[in-house]
Amino acid sequence: MGLPIQLLNALSTVKGFDSKAFEAVHASGEQVTSIRLNPFKNTQPFANLMQEPIPWCKQGHYLSARPSFTLDPVFHAGGYYVQEASSMFLWHALEQLIGKETEGKKVLDLCAAPGGKSTLLASYFADGLVVANEVIKSRSAVLVENITKWGQPNVIVTNNDPDHFKPLESFFDVILTDAPCSGSGLFRKDPAAIDEWSQENVLHCSQRQEKILAAILPSLKEEGILLYATCSYSVEEDEKIAEWLVAEMGLQPLDLAISDQWNIVRTASANSGAPCFRFYPNLIKGEGFFIAAFKKTAPDHFVKWKEVTLPKPAKNELELMNTFFQLPDGFCAFKQNDAIRIIPTIWMNTLQQLAKVLYIKKAGIEIGSPKGKDLIPAHELAVSTLHLNSLPCITVNKDQALQYLRRNELQLEARQGWYLLKFDHVYLGWVKVLANRVNNYYPAEWRILKG
Ligand code: SAM
Repeated sequence: MGLPIQLLNALSTVKGFDSKAFEAVHASGEQVTSIRLNPFKNTQPFANLMQEPIPWCKQGHYLSARPSFTLDPVFHAGGYYVQEASSMFLWHALEQLIGKETEGKKVLDLCAAPGGKSTLLASYFADGLVVANEVIKSRSAVLVENITKWGQPNVIVTNNDPDHFKPLESFFDVILTDAPCSGSGLFRKDPAAIDEWSQENVLHCSQRQEKILAAILPSLKEEGILLYATCSYSVEEDEKIAEWLVAEMGLQPLDLAISDQWNIVRTASANSGAPCFRFYPNLIKGEGFFIAAFKKTAPDHFVKWKEVTLPKPAKNELELMNTFFQLPDGFCAFKQNDAIRIIPTIWMNTLQQLAKVLYIKKAGIEIGSPKGKDLIPAHELAVSTLHLNSLPCITVNKDQALQYLRRNELQLEARQGWYLLKFDHVYLGWVKVLANRVNNYYPAEWRILKG
């Protein structure tokens, strides 16, 4: 399948574009595989496939071949995320723009599903708060799954249209808009996307990108940082949007230092010269990507954000929780439906402000649901990065782990009660050992279906 001629023509005048090399790398069918490790789960997967680290993200690694991630229990336990290497440049951008000053920062990932960049943000802002939002309901479920497996308690997943953020004026320190785009950057990975590409769609996406950005910019604080990214090569979705952000929306462009050896192409928007960064697969080991950074200079309005009071667990429910899993220092508990959840105390008010205007799919970590005198522990707790050492645990081998993840029956020798299953330094989920059988509590909707 040839690349769209209209796209090749349009790119012919764009800096760094080399038509021959670009077409050749797409024709080669070569695939690059990379993963990013979860710094809060102590795993070292694929020792035999691990290649050099990704130059712009220390937790990212290239793999020499694509293994079956589905049949790796550590994948299901959030030990790593399979992410395209160019996207991991976000890590370098954050190092440049934010440095080590992450504590207490409120970060929004506006277009977040399936969660690649949200999990990166969660790792970077481990002592901040990450709100991962996805407008499409079915995609927000996948986002919840990936955020749950990543395990950090300082993430809130919402399912909202960018317009819904309007009451949250001057709220976030950092906003990432990884915008829906025409997708040409993924042609090598997904050749079927070539058929769907059209210049009309590029223009449609470009209009939608402006609409999304215009809706969300009021939620950025003064001095706050906007990161805008796409996986499109089209100038209409990239440099032209950067120009619009500066010329029409009054943002200040920010530069990023990059190494010449990385072969990332620095471009500039037409009039304002906003620095932009392009990733071409013939120049770097990764897929097509674009990113640019901005600062908001307009003064903050004074806004008093409204909040709702989320229900707290009853005293007996808290006692029940504490006998099973002691509320860690610095956390507070709240109820959502029947479940008891916890979140770092410093983020409770923020959560209540967000809950006033947004649809919260998941906040913090679910500990479990009281049922009579018992607490049914939650899967979220099992795969969280909270300290679980005090909980009863059974170590399993790879075959048993896969049986568990398929939700099959297991034979385990243990006294009756709840147990975490552990494989290769990570927890997979819960089982309940009964007198004559073992109940498998792996979430049915996430079980491995592949043989
Ligand atoms: N950031 C994600 C990651 O790294 O895994 C990828 C995001 S993808 C490029 C863009 C997302 O924007 C999609 O999940 C899509 O559903 C969502 N989206 C589509 N239309 C949107 C709209 N009008 N406003 C906000 N987001 C939208």
